[in-house]
Amino acid sequence: MKKWYKQLHWQIIIGLVLGLIWGLIASVSGFTEFTIDYIQPVGTIFINLLKLIAVPLVLASLIVGVTNLNDVTQLSRMGGKTIGIYLVTTICAITIGLTVVNIIQPGDFLPAETQEQLMSSYEGNIEGSAESAQEVIDRSPMTFFVDIVPQNFFKAASDNGNMLQVVFVAILLGIGLIQIPSDKSKSLVNFFDSLNEVIIKIVDLVMKIAPYGVFALMAGVIVDLAGDDIGQALNLLGALGWYCVAVLVGLLLHLFIVYSSLFKMFSKMKLTDFFKAIRPAMLLGFSTSSSSATLPVTMERVEKNVGVDEEVASFVLPIGATINMDGTSLYQAVAAVFIAQALGLDLGLGQQLTIVITATLASIGSAGVPGAGIIMLVIVLQAIQVPVEGIALILGVDRILDMCRTAVNITGDAAVSVAVAHTEGLLGEMHLEDDE
Ligand code: ASP
Repeated sequence: MKKWYKQLHWQIIIGLVLGLIWGLIASVSGFTEFTIDYIQPVGTIFINLLKLIAVPLVLASLIVGVTNLNDVTQLSRMGGKTIGIYLVTTICAITIGLTVVNIIQPGDFLPAETQEQLMSSYEGNIEGSAESAQEVIDRSPMTFFVDIVPQNFFKAASDNGNMLQVVFVAILLGIGLIQIPSDKSKSLVNFFDSLNEVIIKIVDLVMKIAPYGVFALMAGVIVDLAGDDIGQALNLLGALGWYCVAVLVGLLLHLFIVYSSLFKMFSKMKLTDFFKAIRPAMLLGFSTSSSSATLPVTMERVEKNVGVDEEVASFVLPIGATINMDGTSLYQAVAAVFIAQALGLDLGLGQQLTIVITATLASIGSAGVPGAGIIMLVIVLQAIQVPVEGIALILGVDRILDMCRTAVNITGDAAVSVAVAHTEGLLGEMHLEDDE
């Protein structure tokens, strides 16, 4: 076991705290310019890296996800059921997230003056964003679907391209691949599989510099905000605190309301027993922030301790680790609304509906690795015309929320496997003996 300070999540938390402290000290001791010239760019490099991997990540992980559904043709009944329940729980998660964030309104804890200042600091990148937000509200409902279909894939994937269009192309390619004979599709499927692996590795590498990136981003945000006025920086910290509260309350509500309703509908299992049985998987999810890394443990606990038959577990859980991310989708909804609120942008009903659709797609497209959710948040922000740069506001606290949402993602996969197993008559006895 690594010493605590060598563990990435602690390093990121340390980077975050040091960045805050540096930002505050720099603002009062005349290091503002130095911070803007030499420290903030490190944060920009980190954000650029995240953006750089977003398109290939969506493309590869979605294509691999869809081609994995090859089995659906044989197991269409179980496949349909699994994907159906996954979608319903994801949409419930987003609805809970939107409700909580609209009630708590964490971004409104920032005074209007701070919101304006934040917005103007992103101005170079977001000309006319407020107007485009209004345009989106005024558009016809079908425009959203028309915009998803690109005329030119390379344009969609190029600089400032449209992620939703990339998602569309990836799904289309995946569907095409499973419809042609496997000797013809094999090489392309293998190619995307390798690409997926490489990108997951790159995400890993990028996460290694995350502590420095987070330090630089936080220092930059504080210095930008504070200027001569430390009060503004403290306002931002307060708002960030409320944002974390909104995500955590949402995740807890989802755990206790949605999964217990699911069990009431599809099995007689007690929620607390279920939590006890999968506890090691939840903890591993929490500490690794990776559904994929946790998958072997999730499968073991679900089969051995929860009593789900192997036939169901080995089908439902791997698909779940790729496409079912309740915690991530809930978080993306809260984060998108928070960023919009923090920048003083009002989101109408149409845009909140867009969040439901895009966060569903974004969570499906998120790989089960640390930090994937925040990269895919780009899709949601772009769809509602909120400056992607706003991600910088929440990056500092993201690792902690990533840990929590990953634990929920894993719980969601396991809960759905119980429901599917019950309906298939493949749910056995639960074993709760403490064998950890
Ligand atoms: N870390 C999450 C998972 O692996 C994905 C994310 O939300 O970043 O489930």
